[in-house]
This record gives sequence, C-alpha cells and structure tokens, in this order.
Amino acid sequence: MKIARYDYASQFPDLDQLTERLRDMLTRGHYVLGEEVEAFESALAEYLGCEHAIGVNSGTDALILSMKALGIGPGDEVVTQANTFHATVLAILWTGATPVLVDADLDTMGIDLDALEGACGPRTKALLPVHLYGRPTAMARIQALADERGLLVVEDAAQAIGARHAGQRAGTFGAAGCFSFHPSKNLAAAGDGGAIVCASRELADELRITRSLGQAAANHHTHIGLNSKLDALQAVVLHSKLPHLDGWNQSRRELASMYREALADLPLAFQHDDPADEHAYHLFQVRVERRDALVEHLKARGVDATVRYPVPIHRQPAFADLPLAQGSFPVAERLCNELLTLPLRPNMPAEEVAYAADQVREFFSANG
Ligand SMILES: *Cc1c(COP(=O)(O)O)cnc(C)c1O
Repeated sequence: MKIARYDYASQFPDLDQLTERLRDMLTRGHYVLGEEVEAFESALAEYLGCEHAIGVNSGTDALILSMKALGIGPGDEVVTQANTFHATVLAILWTGATPVLVDADLDTMGIDLDALEGACGPRTKALLPVHLYGRPTAMARIQALADERGLLVVEDAAQAIGARHAGQRAGTFGAAGCFSFHPSKNLAAAGDGGAIVCASRELADELRITRSLGQAAANHHTHIGLNSKLDALQAVVLHSKLPHLDGWNQSRRELASMYREALADLPLAFQHDDPADEHAYHLFQVRVERRDALVEHLKARGVDATVRYPVPIHRQPAFADLPLAQGSFPVAERLCNELLTLPLRPNMPAEEVAYAADQVREFFSANG
C-alpha cells in the first residue's frame, strides 16, 4: 500500500465549472486584479467573518506588506515563536525590524504564553503568533498583553485557514491576519498566492495601494509599494475551492482523531487539541524519541511520513549573524528532533489511516 501526503488532483470537485471559468477569464484577457480577485476577496472576508481581505502574491508577502502598512520597521522588535516556518522570521527582517524569538510550548507546539511577556521590551512593537500546524493559538492572553503594552498583533495564519478559536476564525483576532495559498496549504492555489485580512478600512485601503506598486490612482504613486497581487487566475481557482474548505477541514479533524485513537497506547505524543476549538490539521504531527528510525521504517512500508522544519530558526545559516542565533530555545530544538508528519489529506480513506497506524505500531513491537 502507498499512503501519499498530497493528492492535488482530488482538490477539484468542480473541475468542469472551474475550467469553464478559467477559459472565460483567459479569453477575456483581464489578468491583473479585476472582478475575479474582488469576488474572491469578498467571499474570503465573508467566510472568515472579517471586514476586509486583500489578495497578494504569497503568504510571505502578506506578512511583509501587513507589517509595513502597520508601521513596523527599523528600530522595532517583533516577538514571534522559535518554532515556525522560516518565512515568518524572514518577513520580519524584510520590514527592517528585529525578530525576537520565544520558545515553544511542548504540548500546544505554539508560542509559550508564559514566556511571552518576558520577551517584550521598550522596543517591542508587535506580537506575531503562528497558528502552527493548523492549531489556533489561544488569543486572549496575547491580546491582553498587547492591550496592556500598546502592542500590535499580527497573526501568521498560513497553516490555519478555517480553524476556529473560541468560535472565531484564526487570523481575525489581530490588527492583521496573514494567509498562504501555497499548493501544500489547506486552501491551495495552483501556484503561489496569499491574503491579508483586517478590520480597518484604512489599513485595507493602504494595502490595496502598496500591493500594487504604491499606485493610488493611474500614474499617481503615493507609497513605496511592492508588486504583489493575487493573480486573477489563482483567484478563480481559490474561489471555486472555498465552498469545500470547511468540509475538507472537518475531514482532516476526523482523520486526525482516528490516528489519535489508533495510536493512543504507544509511546508517542500529539499536539494538544482543545475540544472547544477547531483545529485545521494542516499537518498531523507526532512526537517520538526515535523519530528518524520511525520515519525510515514508515517510508520503507510505503507511508509518506516526513519531517517538517528539522532545523530550528536560530540555527539557520541565513540568520547566523543575528542576535537570535545566540539564543537558547530547548523546546523548539526538541520539536525539531522529535516531530514527524504522518500523511493526512482530506477525504483520505480510513483504511489508509489504519494502515499507516499499523506500520507505526509494528515499529514499536519490532523495536521494543
Ligand atoms: C507557508 C507559510 C508561510 C509563507 O507562505 P508562502 O505563501 O509560501 O509565502 C508563512 N508562514 C507559515 C507558518 C507558513 O506555513
């Protein structure tokens, strides 16, 4: 049996309708912004329950543009977590601000909320929690700290589109929420794409200008912007998939609980999942001491297990000259050494979960 991590072809339940819409768009010849992008932005804002959504070129650009528009730049510090995807931290650096890392919490695999306040100083301008692996961060304490200290909150929700915390969608708590539509993400474009969501009309207007070369009107450039627009073609793809997202995320949750049940008695740990929340299970992570041997065992048996982010942020060569490279983040390092990702795709047959779980079990019976 072969258990794959991705099945991109199965993500097009409305393929005929989609190709018709794409043909329309291609022959009409309107490729940049325009009605397709606007229609998707409105649908996304409505789905998330927020005021404004602005389509950009990638999740990374969503982070850079939103932080810049919020006035984050040189001299500022942005506090984020030590266990995240590289893009979170490089985006902070592109604004000119300094990233400050906080260690992870071993159970939630999110930012250590108890350590957050200690990382804030006189130059702290923003908190940047990451809803990692699709698990929504508990936002109340982050928001309370931000309010108390007059800090901004920007959410990296690239892995958590559709997740809910306390009934509210991840990405809609802070001043800005950033999403990615990279093909691997829960809502996937056929290429790169991203979006920023926010409640402020002013911020939304500014973002629409800065994503478009700072052009407020034809030949009138009011900002030093970027060229970072969501393609009309990707907007058509994303709009056609959006109605299926909740169903896909629900399927991910069901498959994740099947894994949890099937593996419950083994010496493994899972990411804490608050029953009051809705985890989007972008990745199903398992923490185990003999991680590398287990990955090898699974791969040899056709299960496409993998390791995401084996190198901690503070050990990446790109960041070697930054103060954070001297930091100590033992939980983030431990997660890098002990986490593996089991295959989980929406609508994956239950037999595939059972097979993958059996192979995990076999590893422990064969290796004591
Ligand atoms: C994917 C991802 C990004 C970047 O998104 P891109 O669209 O690939 O630029 C940022 N942060 C996290 C946590 C991600 O998973």
